[in-house]
Amino acid sequence: MLADLHTHSRFSFDGAPEATVEALCETAIAKGLSHLAVTDHCDINGEIEGIYAILDKDAVFDAVEKAKKKYVDRLTLLFGVELGQAYQYPAQSRALLDRYPYDIVLGSLHNLRGEQDFYYMDYKAQTDAQIAALFDRSLDETMELLDFGGIHVLTHLTYMHRYVRRGGKDIDFAPFREKLITLLEKVIQKGVALELNTSALPPARGGVFSPTMEILSLYRSLGGKLISLGSDAHAPQNIAQHFDAAKSALLDCGFAELAVPTKNGLLTFPIS
Ligand SMILES: [Zn+2]
Ligand SMILES: [Zn+2]
Repeated sequence: MLADLHTHSRFSFDGAPEATVEALCETAIAKGLSHLAVTDHCDINGEIEGIYAILDKDAVFDAVEKAKKKYVDRLTLLFGVELGQAYQYPAQSRALLDRYPYDIVLGSLHNLRGEQDFYYMDYKAQTDAQIAALFDRSLDETMELLDFGGIHVLTHLTYMHRYVRRGGKDIDFAPFREKLITLLEKVIQKGVALELNTSALPPARGGVFSPTMEILSLYRSLGGKLISLGSDAHAPQNIAQHFDAAKSALLDCGFAELAVPTKNGLLTFPIS
């Protein structure tokens, strides 16, 4: 029995209209999952700079609490959040985490300080050196995110990679090996799980896992054991998408189980 620990409902600004919390639960059950985390976007900048839509946190909390009761016999539902750029506004981020009883907090980085979301950048117009410089900054800011604390899972570490690939370019990770080692050692030291995100696996969406298998293997070789799995579905039908490929990739990298810290302790799921 596997878990999908990164999904979005229609409460996310980019969630599909049909992605009610109940529809996500029904699909998770139909696909044989034992656990599902609903982790809507809360990019903390959105609250402060007005560059992202604001999440109706009370509404999603109510919907998840209701669904937890409704599906209690069939599904373990986790109330989560994908908290973006927490380190950019640490006080406001802590206030959010104090206010809601999140079972699982995903830490993500969608935009660098003073920059737009990686999704919106025009990579065709950039040189390889400029793209590498952006990736370098993303690693620096991800380390700040880890230092913020308060997160259980580091989601889509190489988020910008999928959009670089869609723009017809790529990132050579080899020059970043030392920096990636420092970052992954921090992931381990902080007790945070690294997420394998499957949403960009189709060629049209980038054709890559996030992070890549080479980074997953590096994490494993450094002693990394905490690993999560998320489809990043924004519509019910995408729940657990490409999980067979993900399971093979995880087994190839030496992981025999998912192991994910949550508010209520460590969850483990054998990969078979
Ligand atoms: Zn989204
Ligand atoms: Zn994200």
